[in-house]
Amino acid sequence: MSKELPGHAQVVIVGGGIVGCSVAYHLTKLGWTDVLLLERKELASGTTWAAAGLLAQLRQNQEMTNLAKYTVDLYEGM
Ligand SMILES: Cc1cc2nc3c(=O)[nH]c(=O)nc-3n(C[C@H](O)[C@H](O)[C@H](O)COP(=O)(O)OP(=O)(O)OC[C@H]3O[C@@H](n4cnc5c(N)ncnc54)[C@H](O)[C@@H]3O)c2cc1C
Repeated sequence: MSKELPGHAQVVIVGGGIVGCSVAYHLTKLGWTDVLLLERKELASGTTWAAAGLLAQLRQNQEMTNLAKYTVDLYEGM
């Protein structure tokens, strides 16, 4: 990871928690090559640090349950 900031990026993501990392992951998976993720401390040092490893699949509504299922499938394929 570079500490020198580029002068331009197609997209800038602020925050390297699960949301920021996931957005960066999915954009690059879709073919975006100019993605910049800025993290003020360390990756996953925010609330994501407290949540790693627990992938409950039943959530409060169908959309959240679908999202949790997608995450489990994603990790299984890595
Ligand atoms: C104790 C605890 C237990 C939890 N357990 C679970 C669980 O079991 N299952 C579950 O699904 N969820 C759980 N959660 C909720 C889950 O952790 C959060 O919903 C999730 O981590 C949020 O991710 P995020 O990327 O939005 O935020 P964060 O992980 O907080 O990431 C934000 C990042 O942005 C960075 N940042 C902030 N401001 C700036 C700035 N100006 N410039 C650059 N970087 C910046 C921070 O340093 C941080 O790294 C838990 C939360 C807590 C607190």
